[in-house]
Amino acid sequence: MKNNELKNRDLDVLWHPCTQMKDHETLPLIPIKKAHGIYLEDFEGNRYIDAISSWWVNMFGHTNEYINSKIKEQLDTLEHVILAGFTHEPVIRLSERLVKLTPANLDKCFYSDNGSSAVELALKMSYHAHYNDGKKKSLFVSLSNSYHGETIGALSVGDVKLYKETYEPLLIKTVQTPVPVDMSETAAVEAAQKFEELCQEKASQISALILEPLIQGAGYMHMYHAKYLVLVREICTKYDIHLIADEVMVGFGRTGELFACEKAGISPDFLILSKGLTGGYLPLSVVLTSNNIYAKFYCDYNEHKAFLHSHSYTGNALACAAANATLDIFENNNIIAKNKELAEYMSQKLQKFLQLPNVSQIRQTGMVCVVELQGYDAKERIGLKVYEYGLQHGVLLRPLGHIVYFMPPYVITKEEIDIMMDTAYEAIKNL
Ligand SMILES: *Cc1c(COP(=O)(O)O)cnc(C)c1O
Repeated sequence: MKNNELKNRDLDVLWHPCTQMKDHETLPLIPIKKAHGIYLEDFEGNRYIDAISSWWVNMFGHTNEYINSKIKEQLDTLEHVILAGFTHEPVIRLSERLVKLTPANLDKCFYSDNGSSAVELALKMSYHAHYNDGKKKSLFVSLSNSYHGETIGALSVGDVKLYKETYEPLLIKTVQTPVPVDMSETAAVEAAQKFEELCQEKASQISALILEPLIQGAGYMHMYHAKYLVLVREICTKYDIHLIADEVMVGFGRTGELFACEKAGISPDFLILSKGLTGGYLPLSVVLTSNNIYAKFYCDYNEHKAFLHSHSYTGNALACAAANATLDIFENNNIIAKNKELAEYMSQKLQKFLQLPNVSQIRQTGMVCVVELQGYDAKERIGLKVYEYGLQHGVLLRPLGHIVYFMPPYVITKEEIDIMMDTAYEAIKNL
């Protein structure tokens, strides 16, 4: 009853993200009453395992008692204050911790409130850093099949047709270099060589290479070898090009290490974090960069040299409190080590999918597992069928086209992994 009532009221006044709204004539919209741990619950008492961490943001479950308590504590002390000319303890503490936890030479934190706007920020900072050095480098290079968000600049460096094509006339000019075709080291070496060839031709114009380290999330969970990061890091340094690591999705343990760059032992010039940063609670993003780049902006007042960029909610205190609580949990509960066991368990379960004739490939990087389907036309909307089957059986799976993937919160148990993956298996078997 309540489910239906809310659904109708919703459709009267809301326009949902990344959705063809007409689908909701037949596809039920699901009002969620409450959530706890990995479970979402609707008004009829149906529970759904959140196998995609509510669009890749949730780390330690919904209504996590510890994070809740820290946000409540902050709420009664300071909810928000302007971050220009003023500061507060949660943002200082968070910045100190991020500088310590991230790879070397990331010394300064600049905040924003979502992944796309942090991408914009990094692009502007990169261009401006070269500008302050007297160089006009206005070209950005990204990987084929990449995704960096939906705002005009972020969309411009992205390469997923589905999101980009319509807006092409509005976008800034960028260049794509091929992503390694698969997870092999050979593919990594070949793709890096292509990037170097591009640099030989255009380095004087290129401001930065932006990439999603190891996993291209919205790019159908395409994965590649860490060797690629090692090689492009060297090439970027050689040609005076910044390396921007967009760890919006892969950051905070998704790849098995706290940050994906650690898997390659590299330091980018800019590191972008968002999604998991607040444990999936509140919008917050940050760009970390080096003291060296920071110094290029530091001088007596000169209106062209300072980074005069701001967002109203920069460094929101509640969001920083949630982020600090999230880092506490990582620190106090040995999460990265424990995740290795969960990842190993998922890896074993993943093998079974290869028995299905409509599965072409499985792949995994850390806490992200993928089952790729074959033999379907895009028009068949095969992912939607898996999605509907999942919901009927208590699991929120949200395939990207023919890619079924698992990216659960880290509080999932082995028994719950069984339910999540067995349900997907049945969904695929029944297609
Ligand atoms: C989600 C995502 C973004 C955009 O973040 P929003 O908060 O949705 O704007 C950028 N880069 C990557 C790699 C992402 O996965």
